[in-house]
Amino acid sequence: MQLVNLKDNAERVTFAQAVKQGIGAHQGLFFMDKLEPFSPSEIDSLLQLDLVARSQKVLRHLIGSDELPELEAIIADAFTFKAPLVNVDGKSACLELFHGPTLAFKDFGARFMARVLSAIIGNDKCTILTATSGDTGAAVADAFYHQPKINVVVLYPKGMVSPLQESLIATLGDNIHAVEVDAPFDNCQDMVKTAFDDAAFKQAVGLNSANSINISRLLAQVCYYFEAVAQVPVEKREHLVFAVPCGNFGNITAGLIAKALGLKARFVIACNANDTVPRYLKSGQWEPHATVATISNAMDISRPNNWPRVEALCRLMGWSLQDFDYGSVSDDETRAHMRSVHEATGYVLEPHAAVAHKVLSEHLKDGEFGIFLGTAHPAKFKSEVDKTLGIDLPLPKALADRMNLALDKKLMGADFATLKSYMLDDLKLAD
Ligand SMILES: *Cc1c(COP(=O)(O)O)cnc(C)c1O
Repeated sequence: MQLVNLKDNAERVTFAQAVKQGIGAHQGLFFMDKLEPFSPSEIDSLLQLDLVARSQKVLRHLIGSDELPELEAIIADAFTFKAPLVNVDGKSACLELFHGPTLAFKDFGARFMARVLSAIIGNDKCTILTATSGDTGAAVADAFYHQPKINVVVLYPKGMVSPLQESLIATLGDNIHAVEVDAPFDNCQDMVKTAFDDAAFKQAVGLNSANSINISRLLAQVCYYFEAVAQVPVEKREHLVFAVPCGNFGNITAGLIAKALGLKARFVIACNANDTVPRYLKSGQWEPHATVATISNAMDISRPNNWPRVEALCRLMGWSLQDFDYGSVSDDETRAHMRSVHEATGYVLEPHAAVAHKVLSEHLKDGEFGIFLGTAHPAKFKSEVDKTLGIDLPLPKALADRMNLALDKKLMGADFATLKSYMLDDLKLAD
């Protein structure tokens, strides 16, 4: 597989290089500049396979036969949970992507990336350093747990992640090191940036970020769009619409790659009050506002870093940005929608899925069947869901058990020198 730096077409890398490097020169994203679609009959055969067998074929097609001989085994080991399509109201269904170990769709990408990275680093050492406001850190920590030769340091802001998220990050131990920073998320992010700017340190510990711009995470996510369609009755497959709750626009990029490969569907972009893209599609002006906090907080992003990939794919495929339906939903509208769907159908939406379903229902045409992505388990947003719907959601047992384990974490101020000495002297990550 050849990938090109979207900011400098002269930089071309293999899949393995792109996974190791994460980002190219001038902060350019790696992306494909050609894609070979499956034929309609190949798509039909793919849709008859199970998730693992089909994902092996789809990703082998994308990555090519001359890289990563371990790919098939990696997929079998990473995709060990289901992505069921659950009917909501006859016209639309939720693709529930939250049955993995940390109950969020990020488990797909993070588990795949962890195993790919472990396979391609050979005998090099590797340290994943990541700052999280919650979900990503939990998925990354879980995905890399016990991966040989890889250490993970997760920075999170003290008092700003939920107790559940903190348990998922700070109860694993072994190669997973939880660092609680006595400062807001942006300062955690700055410490990570400073670490990546320190070339000697970066080299000494083999720094990698595992963030959502890593191409391996996107490729893993392509697979569940096929899984969704495979579960739609054949007579409803002709006019499919996917509604995706967007933050960094990685999830929808993966969906558009599936479309480019031949999956027939149109896409609806769903945002919360952080509506840079909906305003851009309307006015043609890219004008990010300051990020605002919402109840769908994993989508609180006003400069979505995967957007250049969406545009690149549209150029490659000859699609127009005008073909997207889109919408942005306020917190009040989100809560009202959670209530009305619960009353009408009994289905429990958490805020991110509610944003997607709301925008979907505004744009679904007669004869179409809608699929919206359930990106997190409602129990991960238990307090908001309970309050809005007047219910008491049970916590899945695996999570309830984790909540009872003791936390193992290191507290520090927002200071790179302290972090560096912790990583070099205490954890000995350069040895
Ligand atoms: C990360 C996340 C999103 C946004 O996905 P992107 O790929 O960043 O667009 C939506 N919902 C939940 C629950 C998430 O964790």
